[in-house]
Parts: sequence; structure tokens; C-alpha cells
Amino acid sequence: MAEEKEETKEINNSSEFYSPIPQGYEIGKTKYVIITGSVISGIGKGTVSSTLSKNLQDRGLNVEPMKLEAYLNVDSGTLNPFRHGEVFVLDDGTETDLDLGTYERMLDKNLGKDNFITSGRIYKQIIEKERKGDYLGKDVQFIPHVTGEIKLEVRKLAQKTNADIILIEIGGTVGDYENQFAIEALRELQYEEGKESVCFINVTYILEPSSLGEQKSKAAQFGIKSLMQMGIQPDIIICRSKSPLKQSIKDKISLFANIPLKRVFGAHNVKNIYSLPIYFRNMGVDDEICRILKLEEKFPKNTNEKLEKYADYVTIPENSENITIGIAGKYIGASDTYISILNALEHASFATKKKISIKWIDTREINSLDSSVEETLGNLNGLIVPGGFGDKGIEGKIKCIKYCRENNIPFLGLCYGFQLALIEFARNVCQLKNANTTEVDKNTPFPVIDILPEQKSILNLGASMRLGGKEVFIEANTKAERVHNSNLIRRRFRHRYECNPDYIEKLERSGMLFSGSDGGNIMQILELPQHKFFMATQFHPEFTSRPLNPDPLFLEFVKSC
Ligand code: GLN
Repeated sequence: MAEEKEETKEINNSSEFYSPIPQGYEIGKTKYVIITGSVISGIGKGTVSSTLSKNLQDRGLNVEPMKLEAYLNVDSGTLNPFRHGEVFVLDDGTETDLDLGTYERMLDKNLGKDNFITSGRIYKQIIEKERKGDYLGKDVQFIPHVTGEIKLEVRKLAQKTNADIILIEIGGTVGDYENQFAIEALRELQYEEGKESVCFINVTYILEPSSLGEQKSKAAQFGIKSLMQMGIQPDIIICRSKSPLKQSIKDKISLFANIPLKRVFGAHNVKNIYSLPIYFRNMGVDDEICRILKLEEKFPKNTNEKLEKYADYVTIPENSENITIGIAGKYIGASDTYISILNALEHASFATKKKISIKWIDTREINSLDSSVEETLGNLNGLIVPGGFGDKGIEGKIKCIKYCRENNIPFLGLCYGFQLALIEFARNVCQLKNANTTEVDKNTPFPVIDILPEQKSILNLGASMRLGGKEVFIEANTKAERVHNSNLIRRRFRHRYECNPDYIEKLERSGMLFSGSDGGNIMQILELPQHKFFMATQFHPEFTSRPLNPDPLFLEFVKSC
């Protein structure tokens, strides 16, 4: 345990009660809000959690969110976005679940790898410690070692950030096998930190079968009961439902879950998640959390002024002008896959007070006839080609880009969208027949997009792309400079391929302008100066767009539309 002792001290040295605590950590200094889900996943637990974080932040508390994912993947990087939603990239390069994006946008702050923990990462750390000999002489067990490692990570975040509250969201639902140890670890955390330091919230789902036409609470009761069987008495229940929560359902949940009525809240579906903070404030959820955690005196109830202003800002008047933007991708039909793009568009819509409708374009269905492209894109005000991987639907995307270029329709390309715009230009303007990316065609005669040199020797797929926030240097007298009003920005990346430097000159001679780079050979922004709006970026501007501070490229794109 020599090395362990350097950074942590143990409450008790015996193996049964192994509970590592970072050196200098003060029990009771930080409060914890723990959010679990019941009945089903995908009911907006992340949205509820980030809304509560925002309301607590608005009260003056320093809130640090943390997501505990149950799966054994070390991070979200290798997950299929169609099944799990978008992979969100943090500034430090961590590939996370999309909920981290919701937290960043709600709290308007950058998060890092310590805000996101998976079971896979916890097990990896434990096995590495075991191999080093850190547990010498002891058998390594789920309890106390796995639970201890989780508590250690939670407390390290508290200590590092000096947070008043760590708000921990546990992925999945309470019945899942994988998250049993996370839930047990947090039960232990309450035991060790004290009841006044840890508040448990359960987000449950009230069924409303169309055949019955009424709300039913039984599934929610069972879900909450299984949490109680694990030794956790929730302090607050938030009931998600399609329509507003009925009083009779609230009464039942209160009785069966052993919770005062005033701590059972309803949260039915809303169109705009940014309207939730004031809604939750008015119901008094953050008041109850502060009462439970004895924070009322230090952080008393504040005025609703800021949250009301926020709610006003994010409301688009009913009679506002409507524009239709196409998104051409292969994962259409699962809007979570492009959730940051939808948010960035929403942020631009708050600023311009334009309503934005989305038309999903499945580019696998666009056949070779140009008329089918015209049919698909004819009525659009603008087109986004988002990030992606592999060959599915890319010829259709290239056709859509060509149509936008030739017909002066605003176009924004993101990452793969940047690369495909470049391929389209190489093929149809520079006459480089069959130009392609080597990701799709290793033998293309014109590899205008090629693997980054640093990527050539990488074999593993996990966390190995060019990842995270990096500087983008913007050329003077370009649209990129005017839009960003700056020559230096920082944006997030997630790619293995780049514009092949051998073709930069040829492309520029034909009229493509590279207006942003890494300061060296990696091209990061392209534009067509003669076009109304034709811009594409190797980075993902959608990851850093915020409700009150929309990404400038998205904003300008929407204005051009
Ligand atoms: N597949 C491309 C690459 O790896 C683009 C990646 C992306 O769109 N995120 O470079």
C-alpha cells in the first residue's frame, strides 16, 4: 500500500473497511446530490440533473457535476452513436456520454475527465493497482475495493474543485446489474459523510398507456422500492411523464416511497429544455435540496430574476419566421446522435429569433440522378453535413454538397463534412477524377484526404484519434476572421484524417480558401469566398456552442439561411 498511502489515507486499515480518502480531505465540507433513475432509461435524467445543477449554481453554489456510467467501456469513444447517442468530446480530449454536453451547456463551463467515470475505467485502475502490488496480501473484492475506488474518485473531484456540491448522476436505472456497485458505493458515501451531506434523488417514469388513457404509478413504485432494498431512502422523487402529473399519482408515490408529499415533483415533457430551470425553481426543487443538505442559511433562496430572463431569452415567439435546415447523415431518425448540432442551431435560433425546422436527409437513399438531389434539397434554406466515419451514404452527401455549391445554398460542413466538401471540390472543380479519402478508398488516384502522419502507427481504436481542444489560427481578411472577430480560437477535434498537404496549393488555385489551420500543415477551416455561405471546419464547433453564447459559425450560417 506504499504508494496508495502517499495520496490517500485510510479510515480504517483493515481490509473489510478499506475506504481510501484523499490526503487532506475534510468529511462534511462538500455536499453530494445523487441522482438515480428508475423504470426505464432515456427519460431525461441527464436533463433533470443538469437543470438542478443550474438552479443550484444560480443560488451561488459552486456545483461540479459527475456522471457515473455503468458500462465496462473505459470511455464512450467506441460506442455506436445510433444506439447510445452522440459521443461528446471534452476540451481535455475525453470522449464522453452526451449528458456531459448538457451539463456544459447548462452550467456554461468546461468539464474534464474527472467529471466522467465508467465502470470500465474503475476496473482498469483497480487492476493496474493490483499489478503494481498496491493491495499486497489482500484479496481484491467488489466491496470494499470497487466501491472504495468509486468513493475515492468522487472525493478527489470534491477536493480538486473545492465544490460546494458534487452532483452525481448514475447512468441507467437502479435495476441494472452493472451499476449495483456504484449505487452501493454512494450508499456507503452517505453512511460515511452523514445524512445531512448526501441527498438522494430518484427520477422515475409514470406510464400512461394509450389503451388506458390514464397515468399508472405501479412501475415507478417498484423501481423506487428496489432502490430502498439497496438501503437507500430517496429524499426527493421527480416523476417524468408525458402529460402533467396527476395529484392522485403524487399521493401514491409519496406514501409508497415514504417521502413527504412536498418532495414529490412532476416534470412532464417540454419542447425546450432551457425552459426547465425556471419551471423547477418555481416548483421549489432546489429549495428542498438545500433544506435537506442544511444549506439554506449559507445559500438562501434568491430572486428568480436571472432564471426568468434566461427563460425569456430562450423563448421563440410563435409568429417568428421559420427556416428549414437539412442535416445529411447516416444516423438520421435518432436525433440524439446529432444532439450538439441541434443545440447549436437552437442557440443560434435564440439569438436570431428564427424558428428552425430540421429536415433529416438519409444520404444512402439519394440515387445517382441529379433530380433526386434537387427534390430533396430544393426547399431547404441551408444544409449541414455533420461528422461521420466510413463509406455509408458518402456519395449522396457529396452530391448534396455539390448542389449547395452550385446553387448558392448556405452550407456548413463539420469534420467529415469538411473532408467531403473538399473531395467534392477536388473532383468537380479541380477535375481530379475519383478523388477521395483514404478512409474509404485506399487506392484512390487523388488522396486529397489522408491519414494524419501521427495516426499511421496507431493500432488501438480507443481514445486514439486527434482529440480535444486545440488552437485554430485564422487568416486575416477571410470570412472566418469576420465571423469569429478573431485570429485565434480554440475548438474541439475528433478525427484521424486531414486535408492532404500535397493538394493545398492546387485546391487554393482553383478558388478554395483555407482560412484556418493549426499554424502548420493541418487545415482546419475552408471557405468559398464567392459563395453566399460555404464554410466547413475540421473541428466540431457544435461542442462549444452555449445557449447565451452561440457558436459564431452556426450563428452566421443561420443568418445566411
Ligand atoms: N472520419 C473522419 C476522420 O476520422 C471524420 C471524423 C469525424 O467526422 N468526427 O478524420
